[in-house]
Amino acid sequence: MLEKRKRYCLYCKEQKDWLQTNKKLSDGTKVYVDKNGFRWAGKRCPQCEKKRVQYLIKYNSFERELILKKLKDEGYQVQNKIAPFEVIKDANSFTIDIQKASVEAGEISFSDMSCLEADHLIVLFQSARILTKAQVMDLFSQKRKLSQKEKI
Ligand SMILES: [Zn+2]
Repeated sequence: MLEKRKRYCLYCKEQKDWLQTNKKLSDGTKVYVDKNGFRWAGKRCPQCEKKRVQYLIKYNSFERELILKKLKDEGYQVQNKIAPFEVIKDANSFTIDIQKASVEAGEISFSDMSCLEADHLIVLFQSARILTKAQVMDLFSQKRKLSQKEKI
């Protein structure tokens, strides 16, 4: 028999159907699903869990660190590690999502429009730059000069 209950998701902050199934895992844990039959384990509802997995696939660790560092540098206190971020700045809290964008012929285009519900957007511009070895050496020698100046 299915027992109909609701559960509060800590991430989207909604009450959602949380239905016990007749299934049990090998360790005896009862299996719960939402009304669409997607498994609900832990504090995240199946939709939030799906978002989490999509986020992990979409952004590699390099990008994630870049984003979190940027937020910190700009004075945002990040409440969660996965987009959409809940942030606090100057005692105001709001949401920030991430969007990948490219610039072609001076026009910005977003890779998808699914994250326009957030209050702010972090835009990661996708671009590639080719440097010659001489340019790389130039960059490094400029950096070295700068750090030597700082020491003096
Ligand atoms: Zn949720």
